[in-house]
Amino acid sequence: MSALLSIKNLWKDFGGFVATRDVTFDLEEGERHAIIGPNGAGKTTFFNLITGHMHPSKGSVEFRGKDITGIPPHKVVKLGIARSFQRINIFPRMSVFENVQVALMSREGQSLKMFKLCFDLHVAETNQLLDTVGLLTEAEETAGELAYGKQKQLELAIALAENPDVLLLDEPTAGMSPTETGDAIKLVDRITKERGLTLLFTEHDMGVVFGISDRISVLHHGEIIASGLPDDVRNDPEVRRIYLGEDADAAA
Ligand code: ADP
Ligand code: MG
Repeated sequence: MSALLSIKNLWKDFGGFVATRDVTFDLEEGERHAIIGPNGAGKTTFFNLITGHMHPSKGSVEFRGKDITGIPPHKVVKLGIARSFQRINIFPRMSVFENVQVALMSREGQSLKMFKLCFDLHVAETNQLLDTVGLLTEAEETAGELAYGKQKQLELAIALAENPDVLLLDEPTAGMSPTETGDAIKLVDRITKERGLTLLFTEHDMGVVFGISDRISVLHHGEIIASGLPDDVRNDPEVRRIYLGEDADAAA
């Protein structure tokens, strides 16, 4: 069986600095796969290369057997790959409801210019998505005024509005308190199961990583130095030396 997402010999350099070095990687349908590695290892760049936010210098990205290398982000989304960003990416002055509604309109090719005329579009689906991420009671609040953890919940609803098969989450718990982190991961866990989503995520909290991943890949200086089942990665001597160390024991 071929992988859902298949990446071959992917490179990205920024004027001589290599951020992605010969990465070959498969994402299997239905799995939860964590990409871990220190700051600057190239995790976000790797996501940007998959979602068309950056063009690779060399190599290929295939999705469902189709070459999607270098195609623009809006087309990648249409194929079924949605993502969240490491930095919050919402419309801060719009309401929570409108943020999701606009995402649904954009999926349907309805432009923002129509927004004022079409405020009653997708109401049921918007409410359903807000309910899914636990934001129904905050629907009329201004998005930018939500607590940080709730803004991340909203981002998740926006990503789900694309009705994706694959969800790419870049540091979904960054900046969260331990309680918020626990809640966020429970939410991701439930939603991916309910919707049968394939999940690729980056995460610095090793408890989270080892708690929900089927497989883990370790990036170091843009290169995958280990990839496999959580226990294999945890016990990999090079991974322990370079990155995990005591964290691996703490998460055991
Ligand atoms: P991570 O997400 O693992 O922290 P990044 O992918 O953000 O790492 O960055 C990997 C390396 O690539 C870093 O050294 C970063 O400075 C560099 N980098 C990322 N984006 C750019 C860019 N647009 N131009 C130049 N260098 C970049
Ligand atoms: Mg990053």
